[in-house]
Amino acid sequence: MRAMVLETVGQNLNARDMPIPKPDADQVLIRVEACGVCRTDLHIIDGELDNAVLPLVPGHEIVGRVAALGSRVSTLTLGQRVGVPWLGSTCGRCHYCRTQQENLCDAPEFTGYSINGGFAEYCIARAPFVFPLPDDADPVALAPLLCAGLIGFRSLRLAEPATTIGLYGFGAAAHILCQIAVWQGKTVYAFTSEGDTFSQDFARQLGAIWAGPSSTPCPVLLDAALIFAPVGALVPIALRALRKGGQVVCGGIHMSDIPSFPYADLWEERSIRSVANLTRQDGRMFFPLADQSGVLTHTTAYPLADANRALDDLRHGRLNGAAVLVP
Ligand SMILES: [Zn+2]
Ligand SMILES: [Zn+2]
Repeated sequence: MRAMVLETVGQNLNARDMPIPKPDADQVLIRVEACGVCRTDLHIIDGELDNAVLPLVPGHEIVGRVAALGSRVSTLTLGQRVGVPWLGSTCGRCHYCRTQQENLCDAPEFTGYSINGGFAEYCIARAPFVFPLPDDADPVALAPLLCAGLIGFRSLRLAEPATTIGLYGFGAAAHILCQIAVWQGKTVYAFTSEGDTFSQDFARQLGAIWAGPSSTPCPVLLDAALIFAPVGALVPIALRALRKGGQVVCGGIHMSDIPSFPYADLWEERSIRSVANLTRQDGRMFFPLADQSGVLTHTTAYPLADANRALDDLRHGRLNGAAVLVP
């Protein structure tokens, strides 16, 4: 049996027929129902991240059905709906794995980056790293939760106990987070690029109390600013919007350089931090919360074979919500 995968060696994606792989003892074979397109996929294909193992099948927002079980897998069943996130595997032995920081593991594998991902009809994943997902939900709607939602949620969690929050860059992650934060009773301010009134309206529809361009000073002081746009210049801007003791949390894997700024802007215990990857505990907290809060993801579905068009639309900001590939 063979199946189609979309592979990159850089620049773009090429369709290839490959034999359907067999799962090892602790792996499962998954028939992909939908796979989200994340900005990280774009960074990988455009060569902005160093450690991608090429040729590579990208994609780390995978929703699918278990199609075959490895001999030692007892936690999942054939036909079950599961999700495969960015964190594909950890060593389980390093300092970070032993101290509840498996997101920082010294020898991790990342889906669609160091191991093949979900821009394909079938993929392989390690069973302990997949999440059970609701059987009756639309797989396209679920896909963006696997990275934009999950890593966005980790950013929100690290910003706790913030209740007044700024979201900088209103794309796939922010549109999910905005709904969850509002559901949690937080007040959300949304910042977009200049003139992007479409995203500003979208943010207000999703419950943001205010939305405007990031060049406009924030109307209030924020407890936390979460940056999802890969734009380093937003860091000093967001820092100036914080109250004393507030935090800037950078949610992306890649960002342009951060311009210098006066120490006075950081003074009074303001801080800047990044968010790297996710832990399985983040997923155990996030997926029930996404379900309870009734998050609606806004997506544009593309046939798997049209992945290059989806990437191009993301690259040029022609998307509202998230692109999702459907095999
Ligand atoms: Zn480790
Ligand atoms: Zn991602």
